[in-house]
Amino acid sequence: MPYLVREKLFIGNISDAAEILQNGSDEITHILSVLSSVSISFFSEWRSSLTIPAKEIKKVYVGGGHGGAPDDDDLSDISRSPLSPDNLLYSLEYAGKDLKLVRMAVPLRDTENENILDYLDVSLNFIDRSRKDGSVLVHCFAGVSRSAAIITAYLMRSEHLSQEDALQSLRNSCEFVCPNDGFLEQLKMFEEMGFKVDRSSSIYRRFRLKVLGENYNSGVRVDSSRLGADPGMPVSVTSEVEGAPRAGNNRSPTYRCKKCRRVIALKEHVVDHVPGEGETSSEWHKWKSDSLFNKHNESECSSIFIEPLQWMKAVEEGASEGKLSCVHCDARLGNFNWFGIQCSCGSWITPAFQIHKSRVDTSPI
Ligand SMILES: [Zn+2]
Ligand SMILES: [Zn+2]
Repeated sequence: MPYLVREKLFIGNISDAAEILQNGSDEITHILSVLSSVSISFFSEWRSSLTIPAKEIKKVYVGGGHGGAPDDDDLSDISRSPLSPDNLLYSLEYAGKDLKLVRMAVPLRDTENENILDYLDVSLNFIDRSRKDGSVLVHCFAGVSRSAAIITAYLMRSEHLSQEDALQSLRNSCEFVCPNDGFLEQLKMFEEMGFKVDRSSSIYRRFRLKVLGENYNSGVRVDSSRLGADPGMPVSVTSEVEGAPRAGNNRSPTYRCKKCRRVIALKEHVVDHVPGEGETSSEWHKWKSDSLFNKHNESECSSIFIEPLQWMKAVEEGASEGKLSCVHCDARLGNFNWFGIQCSCGSWITPAFQIHKSRVDTSPI
């Protein structure tokens, strides 16, 4: 049986969802499925006696690709997100008995390094809309981690609760819920960003870089679609999507190649770090860190670290480390290393896309 969390909001597991899809429900009109696959066939693979009819409304891909009519909810600004391999953000369909239910499905696995942040906006908006039209069941496989993380985020946003308070409140309805540690960490970021996924915040930028680094480590090819738009190119030539203010806007300070003045990066591409504060996330880099004898102590960082951008052809070629050179005049600008580079202040940045300050000028456009 699904558990009631708030008026018109339920949490459950796959058999709760299957029961409603198969037999209908007097109460529940909408289902949010959070499973590793968005396909309705997930249910028949789970229990072969189940055949659940479904009729697609649309599929929405990261970057704004649509399988149906566009709406305002496609989060096209996640234009190069390291999401699921096929970059599917969600699917929406009529499902179940007499195709009466509206089912949204987001593809998420229950692992600690799964990126749940990028799915929160669409999921929480769906819950909001569903509660206006009827009642919604949020379910995953066991009803313990993924669905609980989504509902915790929902309570955080709608009631302005801290991650801890929201989870505690959910446990009052359903005591065994337990989002995995990676999800809890991301929900904490969600709280720090003000109950939204603020893609311009340094919290989000650091998170995205970390996810990209994990993808690289697990063998995902980092092609240009996963790199940021080149701020030195006219906006129309990049793969960015219409709408949001984009790279090339004229308010952000700009880094230019000192030799040829070509635009290298905008302030918004810089991923901040706290000078002198080390990171110790990967084993490889712990080893490397131990092997360094001289410790740097300059308080002023001699480099900036930026997110990987589309002019970095050496990054696209797949090497784990290399030089970063100006795409226009070939002047050496810095280095990249997926396993980290130590800044002159002592901080380890992982992965690192490092630009020496001495090789660039900073200027307003
Ligand atoms: Zn530094
Ligand atoms: Zn240059």
